[in-house]
Amino acid sequence: TSGHRRAATRTTCGYCGVGCALDVVTSDGEVTAVLPARDGPVNQGHACVKGRFAHGYLTSPERLAQPLLRRDGRLEPVPWEEAIGQVARGLRAAVTGGGADCVAAISSARATNEENYLVQKFMRTVVGTNNIDNCSRLCHSPSAAGLTASLGLSGGTDSFDDVEQSDCLLVVGANPVEAHPVVGARLLRRVLHGGAGLIVADPRAVGLALHADAHLRPRPGTNVALFHGLAHILLAEGLADEDFLRERATGLPELTALLEDYPPDRVSAITGVPAEDLVAAARLYGRAERPAIVYGLGVTEHLHGTDGVRSLANLAILRGAVGTDRGYGINPLRGQNNVQGASDMGALPDLLPGYGKVTDPGARSRAEAVWGGRVPDRPGLRIPDMFAAARAGELRALWIIGEDVCATDPDSDRVAEALRACPLVVCNELFLSETARHCDVVLPATSWLEKDGTFVNFDRRFQRVRPAVPAPGETRSDFDIVRAVAAAMGTDLGCPTPAHALSECGRVAPMFAGLSHERLDREGAVPWPCPHPGHPGESKLYAERFATPDGLAHLTTAPYLPPGEQPDADFPLLLVTGRRWAHYNSGSMTRRGGNLALDPVDHLDLHPDDAARYAVRNGARLIVESRHGRARLIARVGEQTSPGQVFSSFHFPASGVNRLTSDHADTVTSCPEYKVTAVRIEVD
Ligand code: SF4
Repeated sequence: TSGHRRAATRTTCGYCGVGCALDVVTSDGEVTAVLPARDGPVNQGHACVKGRFAHGYLTSPERLAQPLLRRDGRLEPVPWEEAIGQVARGLRAAVTGGGADCVAAISSARATNEENYLVQKFMRTVVGTNNIDNCSRLCHSPSAAGLTASLGLSGGTDSFDDVEQSDCLLVVGANPVEAHPVVGARLLRRVLHGGAGLIVADPRAVGLALHADAHLRPRPGTNVALFHGLAHILLAEGLADEDFLRERATGLPELTALLEDYPPDRVSAITGVPAEDLVAAARLYGRAERPAIVYGLGVTEHLHGTDGVRSLANLAILRGAVGTDRGYGINPLRGQNNVQGASDMGALPDLLPGYGKVTDPGARSRAEAVWGGRVPDRPGLRIPDMFAAARAGELRALWIIGEDVCATDPDSDRVAEALRACPLVVCNELFLSETARHCDVVLPATSWLEKDGTFVNFDRRFQRVRPAVPAPGETRSDFDIVRAVAAAMGTDLGCPTPAHALSECGRVAPMFAGLSHERLDREGAVPWPCPHPGHPGESKLYAERFATPDGLAHLTTAPYLPPGEQPDADFPLLLVTGRRWAHYNSGSMTRRGGNLALDPVDHLDLHPDDAARYAVRNGARLIVESRHGRARLIARVGEQTSPGQVFSSFHFPASGVNRLTSDHADTVTSCPEYKVTAVRIEVD
């Protein structure tokens, strides 16, 4: 009656891997409210401050609305046709001049599955290289590698609904109350009202730790020793499931021998966790009827992150608490909304959609039969290797899709150096980010509230993403941009719509063959694997057998090795980085709106003992230095961090936190060691 056009659109939150279903209410094409869907499969009527309120960026005057092209050192607006032509010519010239492997692309957890699928298809079939990676390299690549090696598949083992039935939750290296608030609330509800035991293993006093039966505070970088110590106690106290180990696992004799070196006293000396706390935690987990492990980046972002994931999985295997009704396995909390899906879709240098190896002729020929072109058989560059290749003059073109690598990647001064050294750098972006400032072509892209497709959340559920508002200015989706560049290079990528792309992906990857937009529109959420349209999807993995070649769970015997950096006289404090409740990653979206007032700066949290030692008052301006760079942060004194450790988020690129972090990386996957950097502080 008012004459206004009102609408509500059901979509999936674009901010974290929980995957909350949201109803976005609009009036005349502008968002007026975002409401958590009462029938949301994970969120059940809840959402956090990011999903509900961080949409002000949509109408920010800083939003890019036109393509930009660098001329005489300045970025100038140009028509789309010119920008796309420039990218197409530049990529073709790079391939002609140096071969297909001189070109690389970084895809995005913020992009939909369909966009990730199309980007990797473009790189493999149009450019002719496997130089495609995504930001899971920087967070959960050790989960994919570790869980695959131990159990067979890259995803978490159980649905969150099942995890919530656990009688003992072991939460490791995660702060879900801030980083995944809806899951944090459900875990808390289970502990406070469902009577579940709670063990928190985290160096900081994260929110859940207040309610824990046991809070283990290991020194950053000592996870593998901690998990082996717990495993030692499980075996010593007869708390392992011998039948399960005999019938469904392999590696027990070797692990038993290794664990002789990890008695509680020695583990206590390495980790700083009192031996009696180790014993108490192992007994809680070992005596539970249905234990569950939930973990985050505090496990993965280490020099030995994959070993950390695998030695944590050992605990579930020893207890027979994975692939059985005697527990709810091991479940990574994914940080970004679609970081699971970006990898599922094959935006990885060694893996095709559905995790077929590029080195496997069978997997390649299945993709080639659908795509009609040859798939290169040599694994491509990982993100850190792309930057190294650029600095060495070996990379001629880099396309960055929706990632602000100069703000979020470690040792960020060196990342900027790499972009300066690369002859052609293109990015798809919402804003003139730190990265976009270094680019030769900037393509204005749409965001999750403006596009069509699907995301996969942390418990492997596909859900629909739908446009709630029209795309602003001349912005285009990553999907349309990739298709346009391919067309300008003389190739029709097929897949005229995202729905076509998901269906085509199912023909390349049998584990997704039962999924379609039409089905998801009807059913809401479906987990993978889902091999045919009548299949409900597997919310619990490995009920019959593990997906390893021999069908068994594999215990790891990787020993504890120290982290890349230790505190010393010059750099006496250890910096850990992580997320805070109001912001998402580099903050490019959450800082542009009401969330900025809720949490306006990056802080450096430090313990009162350290504040006294360095004469730092609460609120003081600090200069923080590492061996790699310098940042400026505001001191926040409190007991959340342990003495000798400091913590900061990375939501404000201007503070430069990732100038501090090192290029030490997981020895298996190259995931950066964000969680251990030696630093010193002084008052500015
Ligand atoms: Fe849900 Fe995560 Fe979005 Fe918050 S940020 S609403 S917890 S999906």
